[in-house]
Amino acid sequence: MRGRSGRSTRRAGGTGGGSSVGSERGGTEGRVSRWPKPEDAPAAEDLARCVHCGLCLTACPTYLVTGLEAESPRGRIQLAKLVEEGRAELNAAVQGHWSRCLQCRACEAVCPSGVPYGRIQEHARAQVQAAPPSGRAWLRLRRFVLRQVVARPRVLAAATAPVRWFAGWRLRGAAERALPGRLRELARQLPANQGAPFRGVREGGRVAEGEPVQLFTGCVMRELFGEVHRATVRVLERAGARVEATEAQRCCGALHAHEGDLAFARRLAKANIAAFERTEGAVVVNSAGCGAALKEYPQLLAGEPEWRERAAAFAARVRDLSEWLAGRGRLPDGRLAARVAYQDACHLAHVQGIRKEPRALLRALAGCELVETEGADTCCGAAGLYGVVEPGMSRELRRRKAAAFAAARPDAVVTANPGCHLQYLGAVREAGLRAEVLHLTEALDRAWNAGDGR
Ligand code: SF4
Ligand code: SF4
Repeated sequence: MRGRSGRSTRRAGGTGGGSSVGSERGGTEGRVSRWPKPEDAPAAEDLARCVHCGLCLTACPTYLVTGLEAESPRGRIQLAKLVEEGRAELNAAVQGHWSRCLQCRACEAVCPSGVPYGRIQEHARAQVQAAPPSGRAWLRLRRFVLRQVVARPRVLAAATAPVRWFAGWRLRGAAERALPGRLRELARQLPANQGAPFRGVREGGRVAEGEPVQLFTGCVMRELFGEVHRATVRVLERAGARVEATEAQRCCGALHAHEGDLAFARRLAKANIAAFERTEGAVVVNSAGCGAALKEYPQLLAGEPEWRERAAAFAARVRDLSEWLAGRGRLPDGRLAARVAYQDACHLAHVQGIRKEPRALLRALAGCELVETEGADTCCGAAGLYGVVEPGMSRELRRRKAAAFAAARPDAVVTANPGCHLQYLGAVREAGLRAEVLHLTEALDRAWNAGDGR
């Protein structure tokens, strides 16, 4: 278990690092502050690993946009240290700087000191949840939606039914034009038509032979990206898998953890571990955010000894779809005559370290011209609920993606995360292109069907 010693009694010393966040100290010098939720506080040793080198700054999207130290990884860590040491209050300004962090973890991937930034930020958010004014309606509403809607399959199915209907409505274009600004923007980011929700591997009566593989179906993916899941089953089967999807599985808990609701994220993690213990084979994931969360269950449950081994055994089975496919021998021949811009999902590239595999799968397709766009591995600004919570920053990051697409002029933008998928629909439109936005599995499914002449 990570130590918490000395949290509320030590004074700061030598933690400058050129940070402008020193202004947060104003009026609080010498005062000891305590984390409002000590059991989930950022660990002192995690914070101490930052040596203020600044190598993370230019990897950070919010720093690149604002140029502000307090909107950088180093600045946000410094703020957490100041709060921990009682030299700054956990006030609205500090909370705002943390809230604008996308939790994309690009900083973590380039940090030479191995600062576990994702863990620090999740624990910082847990403090925000508990900090005064803790009664803020907006925070309470987000927590309620995540617990009572997103994590409950039947409620989520009912809540997303109107969205699915709107996405496939033939008068959608006219309706979008009639909507006010922000709503119109959101409506335009809905996928064209993903068909019915995914309700199980055997929905077509198909039974495949082969290596057992468990499909992780998630929450939003299952409801709004049914066709992506169906394509994933076809792709896995054609690569030699016998696909199963246990109905006992739950939402991965990534959104809850990012929001700082660690207690609920742990409940979901335990439910998933128990559900998949009754199955065999790899647990294959087609959503980068879910995959990263599942692989980090041992970290999430590190403080619960009775779950440690079970979490480690589960995490060892988790594979991103591209990772699992790349580990196969020969794959079906495929053809995709298109200029393709692959965009790294942050939680695939920065957290799982998977960059080569999706590109290799695309490059292997006959006719596929892979173009690298500027900032392909920079966050698109979707980041779970970020587009709703921080619409200005989200819009600016999408605008930058749109500029990169306009310069590269791809026929298709390919990614592997549902939030990014929606953001790229908006970016492609903004770029004035007719490019398709595809999940990697949709591209492979289409290409493999074309490849064998079906
Ligand atoms: S790269 Fe790592 S050690 Fe350097 S400032 Fe950033 S977080 Fe701190
Ligand atoms: S997680 Fe992303 S947005 Fe947050 S500090 Fe790190 S690089 Fe910046």
